[in-house]
Amino acid sequence: MTSRTGRHFLQIPGPTNVPDQVLRAMAAPTIDHRGPEFAELTHRLLPALKPVFGTTGPVVIYPSSGTGAWEAALVNTLSPGNRVLCFETGHFAALWRDMALRLGLEVDFVPGDWRHGARPETLADRLAADPAHRIKAVCVVHNETSTGVTSRVAELRAAMDAADHPALLLVDTISSLGSIDYRHDEWGVDVTVAGSQKGLMLPPGLGFNAVSDKALDAARTARLPKAYLDWGPIIEANERGHFPYTPATNLLYGLDEALRMLADEGLPAVFARHARHAAATRAAVRGWGLEVLCADEREHSAALTAVLLPEGHDADAVRKVILERFDMSLGTGLGRLAGRVFRIGHLGHFNDLTLAGTLAGVQMGLELAGVPVDPAGTLAALERLRSA
Ligand SMILES: *Cc1c(COP(=O)(O)O)cnc(C)c1O
Repeated sequence: MTSRTGRHFLQIPGPTNVPDQVLRAMAAPTIDHRGPEFAELTHRLLPALKPVFGTTGPVVIYPSSGTGAWEAALVNTLSPGNRVLCFETGHFAALWRDMALRLGLEVDFVPGDWRHGARPETLADRLAADPAHRIKAVCVVHNETSTGVTSRVAELRAAMDAADHPALLLVDTISSLGSIDYRHDEWGVDVTVAGSQKGLMLPPGLGFNAVSDKALDAARTARLPKAYLDWGPIIEANERGHFPYTPATNLLYGLDEALRMLADEGLPAVFARHARHAAATRAAVRGWGLEVLCADEREHSAALTAVLLPEGHDADAVRKVILERFDMSLGTGLGRLAGRVFRIGHLGHFNDLTLAGTLAGVQMGLELAGVPVDPAGTLAALERLRSA
């Protein structure tokens, strides 16, 4: 076993690096979740959480990973046999499709090439072909973490409005919330699904649903089985500062601190920082002579970059060299992208020199793995970081 010194570079697109002040906040003693101190925490947390979603409505917190929050979005709003429209933007979109099928929903799955986001024009066509309004929900992954492609949610909403179609809009922001501009209320999203371990800079273990009035209405008649994930009792208990079960108290301490950090930096600055690091990363990738997987300039993810390797090279072999030699973890290629791409996470607790170190490690790893790269790539990124 090689001995390690310094910090591990956790540059996968989630879980992300947890700031020391968040770790310290979580180390406080667990308190009585039915007591007054806990109620104070809830009453501070929930209002602080809303602006991150861009909502003034309720946000439900689950002790779950993001997948649990997606299930909550479906079971609270839909009934057995309901039809939902999903877009094949990548691996995570395919997982949501699978979950919807397992819950007994019918799924229209719009095929995709894993290099583009959900197309507003295609959504318009699908809705126009549904005059009977059989589609009850449109499910979109905002930032497809398997591909580094961000769908244009505002344009998708505009297509739904233009079609005057009443379907709910359910959006997975698990890897975009707190990293990429997002507006639940303004974009007319009905349920926003999120998780703790990516842009929110927390360990895994919290799931979130931001819920519109229309989604709350739908919940009154939705008949998919639900008990633990039922919004109703949670929203009711939250009003008194409590939960209907034992909440993840120490993760909530961490959330309290992470929300303070995001508010101190200011969300516009947080989003600009992510966009800048993403642009510098693309400059490096292109400078190396490699290809960014995302094929539409309007859809580059600010949270991660998926790098396509030339034919005959195995992305996992590159990742292995980088882990062994430089103690850095990069994201693997998921699903049909296995072996073809690796993913660089540049989200969450991250700065210019984290990116410089990350890109230096990637470049050296590519060279060691025998992938032909132009060493000017990393310099191109440094140039961008220096100049802006
Ligand atoms: C990470 C991720 C998920 C899965 O969330 P879990 O917390 O692993 O359940 C789903 N969707 C997207 C877009 C993700 O990035």
